[in-house]
Amino acid sequence: MLNRRQLLQSMATLPLLASCNLAVQGGSRNYTPSGLPLRRVDVSDDRVIRTIAGLRPYRSKGFNVSAERMNDKVVIHNYGHGGGGITLSWGTSHLAMELATQTQHRRCAVLGAGAAGLSAARLMQNAGWDVTIYSKDLSPNTTSNVAGGQWSPTSVYSEDSVSPAFHDQFESAMRHAYRYYQNLVGPKYGVRWISNYMVLNQPEADDSLSATYQDMYPQRMRLSPSEHPFDAEHVLHIDTMLIEPAVYLPAMMNDFQIAGGDIVIKEFRDRGEVLQLDEPVIINCTGLGSRQLFNDNDLIPIKGQLTFLLPQEEVDYIIIGNGGLYMFPRSDGILLGGTYERNQWDPTPDPEATRRIIDGHRAFFNAMEDPWA
Ligand SMILES: Cc1cc2nc3c(=O)[nH]c(=O)nc-3n(C[C@H](O)[C@H](O)[C@H](O)COP(=O)(O)OP(=O)(O)OC[C@H]3O[C@@H](n4cnc5c(N)ncnc54)[C@H](O)[C@@H]3O)c2cc1C
Repeated sequence: MLNRRQLLQSMATLPLLASCNLAVQGGSRNYTPSGLPLRRVDVSDDRVIRTIAGLRPYRSKGFNVSAERMNDKVVIHNYGHGGGGITLSWGTSHLAMELATQTQHRRCAVLGAGAAGLSAARLMQNAGWDVTIYSKDLSPNTTSNVAGGQWSPTSVYSEDSVSPAFHDQFESAMRHAYRYYQNLVGPKYGVRWISNYMVLNQPEADDSLSATYQDMYPQRMRLSPSEHPFDAEHVLHIDTMLIEPAVYLPAMMNDFQIAGGDIVIKEFRDRGEVLQLDEPVIINCTGLGSRQLFNDNDLIPIKGQLTFLLPQEEVDYIIIGNGGLYMFPRSDGILLGGTYERNQWDPTPDPEATRRIIDGHRAFFNAMEDPWA
């Protein structure tokens, strides 16, 4: 005979059975739309395993994907993705690849080995080009490794600074990226579909990303307080992909090398050094490095800080917008974010921000209903 606790535990591992609401107080509000149990994150100081910070490469005008002739080279820019560079990488790299393949060449240098550089390099290889990556750092020492990895291009531009042409580019990049990532779902690349709960102070704005591009945010539904276990008035559910950088980036680098690509560790100090490269086409994916290399003063850092707790396998949903905070459950830990500090160049984590992040999440999850806890 199972006691009540054992019965509930076994149900938590049998989501389809559990979604029939057998004996679980709270009913369907304790399950994601796919039937997975919504378990509370256990937030306490003694579960903290690391705190990190990184600098988002942000341009209020949005990312720069464009081609320029410099001396005898064609330089194709692909940088400035703000808080959405993991998401958009395949999309902007697709646009960069389209520019590169308009030239007569078949050989290129890719500068940078973050999400943008690796996707650009793979797409150029797929187009039949010889590709060499030049980068001062590789995974795990890139900003892309710091990213949370939710598929959603947030904090990428400021609405009042962008042109209609950029909007078209943005949507095109988003659509390509949405499609490319779906081919990578599975353990090899660390990509999976996951329920997101957006916890809002007021009903979602009509011009939010998920409202504007509803076809790229499946299972989008407004939940009433009786349909979710959180202590919140306005909750929106969507499905997105979660990309785990610690799995995804090494897998991409491996694919690049298996396909015959070379990687050269090199730091460029200025544009002149870049133009000494042998390759006729140069795809610039240096993220924030482009500010100095190509004198782009529109590019600024937005610092973001994350604290990780011990992994909890039973937690399989994302929380966004809990007073600016967010939680992503990853295999390398429960990620608690976050901060957005414009023009902050110092990537050292700030203990006060850590405290705010931990306390905010603890209050949120303590107030969450978890019938199995
Ligand atoms: C806290 C945080 C959370 C985030 N969460 C998300 C998220 O959930 N989803 C999402 O889509 N995005 C997220 N982002 C944003 C994302 O991390 C960035 O947009 C993305 O990493 C940018 O990728 P990149 O390849 O352009 O730049 P990087 O990853 O910075 O790569 C740049 C590369 O260029 C090289 N380089 C730079 N300068 C030089 C030089 N002078 N010479 C040679 N090499 C050089 C670097 O070594 C590196 O290899 C987050 C960012 C932060 C900080």
